[in-house]
Amino acid sequence: NPQLTIIGGGMAGSEAAWQAANLGIRTRIIEMRPKVETFAHRTGNLAEMVCSNSFRSDDDEQNAVGLLHWEMRAANSVIMHTADAHKLPAGGALAVDRDPFAEAVTAKLQAHPNIEITAGEVTDLPEDGPTIIATGPLTGSALAEAIAKEAGQDALAFFDAIAPIVYADSIDMDVAWRQSRYDKGETLEEQQAYINCPLTKDQYEAFIDALLDAEKTQFKEGETAGYFDGCLPIEVMAERGRETLRYGPMKPVGLTNPHDPQTKAHAVVQLRRDNALGTLYNIVGFQTKMTYGAQKRVFTMIPGLQDASFARLGGIHRNTFINSPTLLDGQMRLRSKPHIRFAGQITGVEGYVESASMGLLAGRMAAAEILGQSLADVPDTTAMGALVTHITGGAEAKTFQPMNVNFGLFPPVEGLKGGRRGRKDRYKAYTDRAKAAWTDWLGPEAAAAQ
Ligand code: FAD
Repeated sequence: NPQLTIIGGGMAGSEAAWQAANLGIRTRIIEMRPKVETFAHRTGNLAEMVCSNSFRSDDDEQNAVGLLHWEMRAANSVIMHTADAHKLPAGGALAVDRDPFAEAVTAKLQAHPNIEITAGEVTDLPEDGPTIIATGPLTGSALAEAIAKEAGQDALAFFDAIAPIVYADSIDMDVAWRQSRYDKGETLEEQQAYINCPLTKDQYEAFIDALLDAEKTQFKEGETAGYFDGCLPIEVMAERGRETLRYGPMKPVGLTNPHDPQTKAHAVVQLRRDNALGTLYNIVGFQTKMTYGAQKRVFTMIPGLQDASFARLGGIHRNTFINSPTLLDGQMRLRSKPHIRFAGQITGVEGYVESASMGLLAGRMAAAEILGQSLADVPDTTAMGALVTHITGGAEAKTFQPMNVNFGLFPPVEGLKGGRRGRKDRYKAYTDRAKAAWTDWLGPEAAAAQ
């Protein structure tokens, strides 16, 4: 009999199974493919990469996802070690030969004495027994309904509508200012929860032209149903009329620019705080299907954002994910049914590596619980810890949208220069601090992995 059931054998489920099984836990993976297909997967392999073949940057000194690679390798990650074995030349990125990679992950899990793999679609939440749900962005619809029933309809999304997220310290505060519309809010902090960027009439007209001209990505077949509910891309709003945005997310009312109190802005772009640390701000209402290149070009036309660094760019995708900040505890357990953990993209992280990393943690947490051991909290100064802290509490629950790993999620290192100039030293300080904390958390295992 399995001691741990993992539903979904994608990036997160495969890693979770590997980690738990290596700790001696008899683990069963239930995977619906190839019996039941999704619109994006092509094979019946575990850990299939559905789109790009890249694990992104492998730079573990200057890049947060590169740091996550490093931490996962130190923790004997099956996803990372197999990706390394099937690496393709790609400069500083870790590109992966996808089919041999997925076949090798599948073979390693099949060969593991503690892992059993069952084919089939799970349609309901298991009543008991330690379980990890790792069914990803394309979770089967019956299970998604069961999750919604347990969690509440509002706590499960079927689409993400991501507005770009900007590093706070890259916003030019000589141009922008802090103020909530009509100074709403009880405390000064609330009254200053937004950052505002003013546009003149000419700047607004140029911005609308650029939006209309920009290159957009297309939806894939099967991806579109239902996306128009309340998350129109800004370029679609602009297509409906040149003034639509000025009466929507860019309305200038209830705001006074302290840099120029006499002049009324023609339009205002607002950014809202995105994490408890206050290091990240999202551009309110700016979900978009523009290509990444176009987004950078168009959004840096906004006064105050001319030097903006983006922690993530916007997008709209088919994506099943739960409101983790309200539903999960710090151990990734569903508060209302603590025998169930969630891992991977369904928890509101974004990307192959992030999903696998949350599988790594969930697998270890479940194993420790089954073995009656206590696992120390993952330090939030590590990439793993920063991510899990963000999804289980650091993110704003009301506006929660999927997040990939980035340095804005880390508690700032004190005493270093902010802004663009200090970036290199700052990132090195973050990664040095993270590696030390992760090595410490892993304990003797880290030394053995060297
Ligand atoms: P998955 O890898 O999708 O694994 C979930 C598994 O659960 C699947 O194998 C699925 O078949 C199975 N499953 C679902 N429901 C059930 C059920 N009820 N019973 C049993 N099994 C079930 N990320 C990137 O980093 N780069 C990209 O280029 C990229 N492109 C993407 C394109 C598309 C169209 C989509 C939808 C996602 C994309 N992503 C991309 C995000 C990507 O899906 C995740 O990064 C990653 O695969 C998520 O890992 P996961 O383990 O959470 O989910």
